[in-house]
Amino acid sequence: MTDAKTKTPEISFEFFPPQTLEASFRLWDTVHALAPMEPRFVSVTYGAGGTTRALTHDAVTTLQRNSGLRVAAHLTCVAATKAETLEIAEQYSDAGITDIVALRGDPPEGMDAFEATEGGFGSSIELIEALAKTGKFILRVGAYPEAHPEAENLQASVDWLKRKFDAGADEALTQFFFEAESFLRFRDACAKAGLDTNRLTPGILPIENWSGARRFALRCGAQIPVWLEEAFSKAKRDGRSDLLATALCSELCTDLLEEGVNRLHFYTLNRPELTRDVCNALGIAPKARLQNVA
Ligand code: FAD
Repeated sequence: MTDAKTKTPEISFEFFPPQTLEASFRLWDTVHALAPMEPRFVSVTYGAGGTTRALTHDAVTTLQRNSGLRVAAHLTCVAATKAETLEIAEQYSDAGITDIVALRGDPPEGMDAFEATEGGFGSSIELIEALAKTGKFILRVGAYPEAHPEAENLQASVDWLKRKFDAGADEALTQFFFEAESFLRFRDACAKAGLDTNRLTPGILPIENWSGARRFALRCGAQIPVWLEEAFSKAKRDGRSDLLATALCSELCTDLLEEGVNRLHFYTLNRPELTRDVCNALGIAPKARLQNVA
């Protein structure tokens, strides 16, 4: 439970687009379980390499029509020309979508580094500028508290984030991290660089599966503390991984809230249980029932 010093945070949830009928049901169950927490918005990712363009579009517009939630579409620069990318954004606008998470994107499987498509956006900054120019969207962007693997150092990540805000970004959602200190150090560095730190929202990964989370962390450069490795290997032996994950994630969020953070963005991986348990532990009670069920 949070103490009297901390306020109940505003929350948002990230989903990925389902590729099978079974996955569609799982996403819908997840939305059903989490919608009563009244998130500020939910977002739907865009597959690495631009692989889920149509699926993302379908998931975003279906959720927008049927869930009663505010839905943000992720959009990347990968594997599309500028005209194609802006056409996708236009289609979102036509469908009533007002929120975009604008990213450079990860390269397709098998490619090591991002390469701009001929005629495509060369960086996240170019994409943000172009979307901002339309005046149609609230723009959220990625930020990296432990530095992006391609950044020279943390300061380079901060400087690059500043350029995103200058280009028209409204808010930054961070990569996940395992210790509150990582976010707080980054927030301090952002404040020193003159950024409005109220526009930084920490990304939180409830650890449903430690080996998956570990793999993901290694890929995106999130630091893995030794104590965390040890805690999960012991919890696995004792069959208590879920309990540990809920306790650790709740503690991470509480530490952030005690430091004045008032918004959290959860990477749900289309599984509601841990996210819901953590929200409950933070004092976020279910409020509304999902309306207009499809
Ligand atoms: P940027 O922040 O633009 O670039 C990454 C880093 O590289 C920068 O921090 C900067 O230090 C450096 N850099 C890049 N270009 C330059 C330059 N020209 N000069 C100097 N430095 C430079 N990926 C997907 O494919 N689909 C998604 O839906 C998706 N959703 C995400 C959501 C969030 C909240 C986050 C944090 C990440 C998401 N990603 C997604 C992952 C993201 O695409 C990768 O991390 C990608 O490698 C970087 O994208 P970006 O827009 O954050 O890049």
